[in-house]
Amino acid sequence: MRNGTYGIDNTSQDFYFPDDHPTMPGWFKGMENIIRKQGMWPENGLNAQCEGFKCVPGCVDCCCRRLLFSQSDFIAQKSQLEEYIISRGHICDFYLKFHCKLNFIKQYWGAVTFHYRSSPKTSDMDAMEKNVLTCLDAVPLLHIRR
Ligand SMILES: [Zn+2]
Repeated sequence: MRNGTYGIDNTSQDFYFPDDHPTMPGWFKGMENIIRKQGMWPENGLNAQCEGFKCVPGCVDCCCRRLLFSQSDFIAQKSQLEEYIISRGHICDFYLKFHCKLNFIKQYWGAVTFHYRSSPKTSDMDAMEKNVLTCLDAVPLLHIRR
């Protein structure tokens, strides 16, 4: 994770111990240390997470996990994978986990498979590869976008 920020002036906060730390060089500081540094640690303490990740709906400080996840710097931070993909000039779009059948790639692959099944049968590898490429190109771009 990148450094976080806290306070009105967005003071930077390292989430990892420095490399010259005597006992835990380079280790993640932990949720409690981060929350304490931000001055939000309650007197009675907090559990790391609610049981079964089932936080009270609407509550933002029921556990360390929920408290940190509701902070603006955590919300704004993109994953390392997403940052890498964007830095390479691509669009990164994650789909919700409803069902794999709703993913357009799955729909596209289904259309390709349908085309391939209607192509002439062959045991020649070169012919099969040619059929696959033809079938991949046979799905109209408009169908993929829909
Ligand atoms: Zn919680």
